[in-house]
Amino acid sequence: MSECNKVASKVPQLLSEVTRILFRSWQAFMNKAFVKEIDDPGDHCPVCGSVGMRVHRLTLESQLTTKAVEKFSDSAYFCVQAICEVAYFDQFEQMVTVDQLLRPVYPKDPQAPICPCFGFTCEEIDADIAESGVARVRKHVERAQSDQICCEIRSPHGRSCIPAVQKYYMRGRG
Ligand SMILES: [Zn+2]
Ligand SMILES: [Zn+2]
Repeated sequence: MSECNKVASKVPQLLSEVTRILFRSWQAFMNKAFVKEIDDPGDHCPVCGSVGMRVHRLTLESQLTTKAVEKFSDSAYFCVQAICEVAYFDQFEQMVTVDQLLRPVYPKDPQAPICPCFGFTCEEIDADIAESGVARVRKHVERAQSDQICCEIRSPHGRSCIPAVQKYYMRGRG
C-alpha cells in the first residue's frame, strides 16, 4: 500500500471521530440547557411561589439599603406579585421584604409610580383611558425608549418599564 493510500484509508475513521466529538459537545450543551431550565428553584418566590424576575446588583443597590444589599451575591429575584410581602429573594434562602425597600415600588404599592425613572403613574394612564386617548402613555414610551438604561437601573425589576405600562393600559381599555 502506498503512503497516499494509507492516509486515504484513515479518512472515514477520522470523520467518524469528528462526528463523535461534535455529538458529544452537542449533548453536553443540551444537558446544560435542560438542567438549567429544570433545576433553577431560585426563581420561585419562597412565600407566594410566583416566578421572580432576575435582577443584578446595580438594581438591588438602587432599591435597598446597603445592609439589605449585602444579603445577596451578585443577583437576586424580584417578586412581581402585588400582594406578596417579599421584595427580593435568592436561591440561598435570603429574602428582603417590602418594608425594607428605600421607597415604595409598583406593584407592591399601587400608588407608587409604575415607572419610577420618569415618575410616571397609573393615575396618568387612567387619565388617558378616561379620555379614550393615548397621549400620556405615548409620551412616556418615547421618553423611556430614548433613555432605557434609566429604567434598567431605577425600576425594581431592573428592566424597561414600557411593557408594564402597556399591560396596565391594555387591561384598563378592556
Ligand atoms: Zn412573592
Ligand atoms: Zn421606568
